[in-house]
Amino acid sequence: MIAVRKTVVENVAHDQESETVVVSVRPARGQRQLCGICKKRCPRYDGGAGRRRWRSLDCGVHKVFLEAEAPRVTCRDHGVVVAAVLWARHDAGHTFAFDDTVAWLAVKTSKTAVTQLMRIAWRSVGAIVARVSADGLAAVDRFANVRRIGIDEISYKRNSHYLTVVVDHDTRRLIWASVGRDMAAVHSFFDALGEERCTQITHISSDSADWIERVVKRRCPEAIHCADPFHVVSWAQLALDEVRSESLRRARALARRGRGQRSRGPALELWRSRHALWKNPENLTEHQAARLAWIAKTDPRLHRAYLLKEGLRYVFAAGGEEGKEALERWLSWAKRCRIPSFVKVARQVETRRSQIEATLDHGLSNALIESTNTKIRLLTRIAFGFKNADALIGLAMLALGGFCPSLPHAV
Ligand SMILES: [Zn+2]
Repeated sequence: MIAVRKTVVENVAHDQESETVVVSVRPARGQRQLCGICKKRCPRYDGGAGRRRWRSLDCGVHKVFLEAEAPRVTCRDHGVVVAAVLWARHDAGHTFAFDDTVAWLAVKTSKTAVTQLMRIAWRSVGAIVARVSADGLAAVDRFANVRRIGIDEISYKRNSHYLTVVVDHDTRRLIWASVGRDMAAVHSFFDALGEERCTQITHISSDSADWIERVVKRRCPEAIHCADPFHVVSWAQLALDEVRSESLRRARALARRGRGQRSRGPALELWRSRHALWKNPENLTEHQAARLAWIAKTDPRLHRAYLLKEGLRYVFAAGGEEGKEALERWLSWAKRCRIPSFVKVARQVETRRSQIEATLDHGLSNALIESTNTKIRLLTRIAFGFKNADALIGLAMLALGGFCPSLPHAV
């Protein structure tokens, strides 16, 4: 019932008043006096802080605790440490079964669901997620067959902090994340990867950030550097936003000069059109499609900007030779479109053309990077309230790196 192995149950005490069950246990023979860190057998040092409790999974509505001695041992490598126990991670106040259930829930359900169901604070969830993830990462070789990767930066905590993340294009998984967005962060990824495996990397996609590019050139000189479609399209999206703001300013100035609802109408419509302009056409609601049709009729310049944005998106959606032809057409159109913000994007695209064509040739998926980006952004919002970035990274690795533990009963 308490999901432990090689453990002797000495006593079970039930307290009706506090609605708790305390199970007194001790490690079976041969499992005592092991170093909490390396699990090697060591001489006993002292009794430590006496008996300790570990929270286990609830039994019905009652909280269950395991209680045992927590002696200290002297390890040759780690000095004086608390001896290992088989039912919990080193330095943890919860059992394996409890930890894994919390981590599973943190990935699959909402913040409220985890904290209320498990009756723990959100900060504790963060600590659990960080240690379950660290355990999972230590157990497998996540860099084993990495060939094609994407490097990106993600902001969190109201955009004042950054993570550098690496995804594997082939397994479609997040394989690495770290705090910061600088050359040191990228270097530490390649350090973790190891020199030999750096030579096995064939393709690297990233945005045009100089700090990524410089490190990539040094650490993987042979790899083909591809442009990250998500970022290229986002240039066009920003340019479109600029054009929309200009239209909005003009419409408002007109409204101030005119009088009544009729003159305010255009400004209001434009103000509401943001989502219609941002969304992919296939996802538009009927209402948004109507708004777009209205823009086409009343504001041809803004509509042209919208089509330019969609055109660039199509380049990556098509990919391959078709994508390259579309890119050619798009560039000549954008360069002479007489919308300054898009002329600027055209120049940006031109300078990155070879990398964009590499992306089209090698079919690096836009959808993967875009969805990982969106998912991590969502996680950064959920992780708000965790004590440190380790918990956020842990949650990201569990959810997007394929390290989510299975439930204790699901063998
Ligand atoms: Zn040790």
